[in-house]
Amino acid sequence: MSATPQPAPSAAIAGRLVVISGPSGAGKTSVCRALREDPRVEFSVSATTRPIRPGEVEGVDYHFLTQQEFERRLGRGEFLESARYNGNLYGTLRAPMDRALHQGRIFLLEIEVQGTRQLRDKAIPGVYVFVVPPSLEELRRRLVARGANRPDEIEARLRIAQQELQWKHLYDHVVVNDELPRTIAEVRRILGL
Ligand code: 5GP
Repeated sequence: MSATPQPAPSAAIAGRLVVISGPSGAGKTSVCRALREDPRVEFSVSATTRPIRPGEVEGVDYHFLTQQEFERRLGRGEFLESARYNGNLYGTLRAPMDRALHQGRIFLLEIEVQGTRQLRDKAIPGVYVFVVPPSLEELRRRLVARGANRPDEIEARLRIAQQELQWKHLYDHVVVNDELPRTIAEVRRILGL
């Protein structure tokens, strides 16, 4: 008796999670901006309690929430990870990620190191990339040139950067951002984009 042909098990349509991290001013936002141009990539719009900066757009750069709203959503388990960074709360929303991965898309997270530690603790599969500056002096120069932070904020961010650089081992790839176009090309190559 010949066996009845069985349909192939329906392969779950699984996308890919990409985590880009690195100290503030290392250039990860510029790298992510370039990656977002690819139609296969969906950017994770984080929630944050920090004030909106000139040029930023609600729902595109972040969902800007009050602390109360952030904590309410945190309590409801809406965040995959969350962290306090320089006095403000930041978090990745679960629902858009689940949707994008189910649709087979590449879901791109731009987060700081504490968030990465949470994802690693939960053994969340993904490609983890750390973008680092060539040196701390160069990082200071870039933060000053960006003009987005007061001098005391720059010093605070440099102190955080120094600590963050000690977490390189959490990542699959460490990319030195010496020249932005080269860095973007390297990250694209790592991701096969
Ligand atoms: P900024 O205030 O400069 O936009 O971001 C400050 C830091 O928070 C950056 O390192 C940025 O990558 C990180 N960040 C942004 N969104 C999230 C998030 O959802 N979770 C975590 N853990 N960090 C985030």
